[in-house]
Amino acid sequence: MQCYGGCQCGAVRFVCDIDPERASICHCRMCQKAFGNVFAPLVSVREGTLRWTKAEPKRFQSSNVVKRGFCPDCGTPLTYEAPDGIAIAIGALDDPSIAPPVIQYGTEAEIPFVASLHTLPHRSTMEDLPAAPFLRDIVSYQHPDRPEKGESQGGGKELNTHQFE
Ligand SMILES: [Zn+2]
Ligand SMILES: [Zn+2]
Repeated sequence: MQCYGGCQCGAVRFVCDIDPERASICHCRMCQKAFGNVFAPLVSVREGTLRWTKAEPKRFQSSNVVKRGFCPDCGTPLTYEAPDGIAIAIGALDDPSIAPPVIQYGTEAEIPFVASLHTLPHRSTMEDLPAAPFLRDIVSYQHPDRPEKGESQGGGKELNTHQFE
């Protein structure tokens, strides 16, 4: 499945073919740190299909076998690069909903509260207005989750890079 994605600021963008049957979350301590999060959602990229269309990510060698790619400008975690292939951060896809995780790895390090996150109270962003009135006038500087000019080979609405909303 061909898809697009990139970092929060848009300096790093990619096109790749993902294998949705190999979407996962990883609880291992390495992934927690690399994502600054309590687990890492990743999906495997089909070999040879990943193309960086703008800047390349910077890499941190997190072990003797694995590198972690991230945007050098905004820090968004982007890749897990191992000898058997590359996986991309599901949250970095323009549409993360296309890669629902099918397995959990690294469960020896799972943080106990993670299993009950879905039971927490729910509140939408605008329901927070009384506590955070600045949200009313918020202007996003985040890349708008659409392919840019030159990224797609036919099909799909492309974004002129000077037209960030
Ligand atoms: Zn960035
Ligand atoms: Zn991991």
